[in-house]
Amino acid sequence: MPTLPRQLLNDIFGYTEFRGPQEAIINHVSGGGDALVLMPTGGGKSLCYQIPALARQQAGHGVTIVISPLIALMHDQVGALLEAGVDAAYLNSSLSSEASYALEKRLLNGSITMLYAAPERVTNPRFLAQLDSLYERGLLSLFAIDEAHCVSQWGHDFRPEYRALTVLHERFASVPRVALTATADDLTRDDMIERLQLQDAAQFVSSFDRPNIRYRLVEKKDPTQQLLRFIRNEHEGDAGIVYCQSRKKVEDITQTLCDEGIPALPYHAGLDAGVRQANQDRFLREDGLVMVATIAFGMGIDKPDVRFVAHIDMPKNIEAYYQETGRAGRDGAPANAWMSYGLQDVVNQRRMIDESPAGEDFKNVMRSKLDALLALAENTDCRRGRLLTYFGEELALNAQGKYVCSNCDNCLNPPNLWDGTDAARKLLSTIYRVQQHSGISFGAGHIMDILRGKKTEKVTQFGHESISTFGIGATLNETQLRSVLRQLIANGALSINAAAFNTLQLNAASREVLKGETQVMLRETEVASARGSKAKRSTTSAIKTANASLDAAGERRFAALKAWRAEVAREHNLPAYVIFHDATLIAIAQRDPQQLSDLDGISGMGAKKLTAYGDEVLRAVRS
Ligand code: ADP
Ligand code: ZN
Repeated sequence: MPTLPRQLLNDIFGYTEFRGPQEAIINHVSGGGDALVLMPTGGGKSLCYQIPALARQQAGHGVTIVISPLIALMHDQVGALLEAGVDAAYLNSSLSSEASYALEKRLLNGSITMLYAAPERVTNPRFLAQLDSLYERGLLSLFAIDEAHCVSQWGHDFRPEYRALTVLHERFASVPRVALTATADDLTRDDMIERLQLQDAAQFVSSFDRPNIRYRLVEKKDPTQQLLRFIRNEHEGDAGIVYCQSRKKVEDITQTLCDEGIPALPYHAGLDAGVRQANQDRFLREDGLVMVATIAFGMGIDKPDVRFVAHIDMPKNIEAYYQETGRAGRDGAPANAWMSYGLQDVVNQRRMIDESPAGEDFKNVMRSKLDALLALAENTDCRRGRLLTYFGEELALNAQGKYVCSNCDNCLNPPNLWDGTDAARKLLSTIYRVQQHSGISFGAGHIMDILRGKKTEKVTQFGHESISTFGIGATLNETQLRSVLRQLIANGALSINAAAFNTLQLNAASREVLKGETQVMLRETEVASARGSKAKRSTTSAIKTANASLDAAGERRFAALKAWRAEVAREHNLPAYVIFHDATLIAIAQRDPQQLSDLDGISGMGAKKLTAYGDEVLRAVRS
């Protein structure tokens, strides 16, 4: 009598409950149905094929083949299964010929539960012939196609080798297939279904909300100091990722963090491949490291305990932002997504689009995508609501017709608004008058100096103190003026001429603001920072709930367990989280177990791990 999926969840993985649609998917696939699974990062896709693989192997259906694009990560994935007592293996070029020969023998007798391989390996003639042999004997159980969006050129990581996977359905028609991805847009989804011939597969589409991630977007003032404060106040000792726009900045921030005693590593395309790999390995394997990276870092990183993702520069659109922030908190425990953004980010991103060699249609799409991100940054409504709406999800609105998530900066500390219409008109008319006066355009800094009545060298040189708007913005501070500028640029009421030293230029939309036809409402940044201490406290308390439950003695037990885990992980050459998640160690520290039976029912403590590590865990707790 084969074990039920729920029991496999309890016994092997040590979890008590399925998450979201996991159970429905697992039942469908275990029963031999095809499925397309769209679930956000951290949603728990792996169990959706791992439990069916176990159930079907027990029922005598043989081997599940898992197709995964990332050879580099197969080792850790298989390591995690072996730790849980599952007979899994991977086939890739890193194996010696003796090892792959031995593995092929085990494969051919159909006893392995899961075999991981890259698509090019699965579709090579020699391997297909081996699958034929299994198939003829009814020992080919299931194909799991992970990161299935790689089959589509519309996805962000197109891998032509995925195209050849159509052979699976043609050659092994009765073997069920489950395709999984976290990339949801319609274009990619349709393409995926067609390319993998999944027209008849059941579709399981989850919400893409990540409720445990707290979104916060702050105005950039001194980004390095802001980042340091953020890490010190809220993430001392945590693992996190800091995204920067340039390699140079990656190097600088890494250096600063290290100087300040925060262990950090750099990652960007300019580093030697060996160094990149070594830094990635350390980030995955060690506790509490900060990876400072360009966007080159992150694909397929399944480290579950990344507690924060910080953007020190603004990314280029919401898709990129969501994908990058999604790497935080895969374990479901509280995590922060923090971004600092400023006028210069807007200018830089605009210029990159303007100067790119792409066609005008493409550039327009890129501009409107950038605008959506700016709107997210500038607006005062719920950040999560905006993100989910952007991805086409229906929101449940409250009685006031608003969406409130209670876990983003705007929901937790609603910002005040001020009417910036008058300030915007003063600014635009100054730009107009300066242009009339001198016959050329100027950049933001100079225009702000004129408005605030500063007699700089440049102001005197061009005689701009004689302009009638000189000093009429004296009551406004620089922060307010920058906020007005960003808003005008974000709304298209002011243009930046990248070809002429980023000078500010009026356009048709500027006239409407000048004539007072458009109201400009702005977040009150000064007030927000004055209330910062309060905001910080509430954020810190919520984000630390993971181990807030521990008293001083519990904290000491947790520290001892982490030290023990680090040692085991090193011995097994695996990341620490593969041995036990933080949440599991916290639960143990809390329970203060005296004997093995006290470890029963701890989430993440499966039967195999209890046998293998139970005594050592008790010893670590007592130490
Ligand atoms: P995805 O591939 O969708 O990004 P994973 O399969 O890596 O997500 O799962 C994310 C994390 O959640 C993993 O650390 C996994 O062990 C954990 N997890 C998955 N399902 C459950 C569950 N039902 N209960 C507890 N933890 C779970
Ligand atoms: Zn919110």
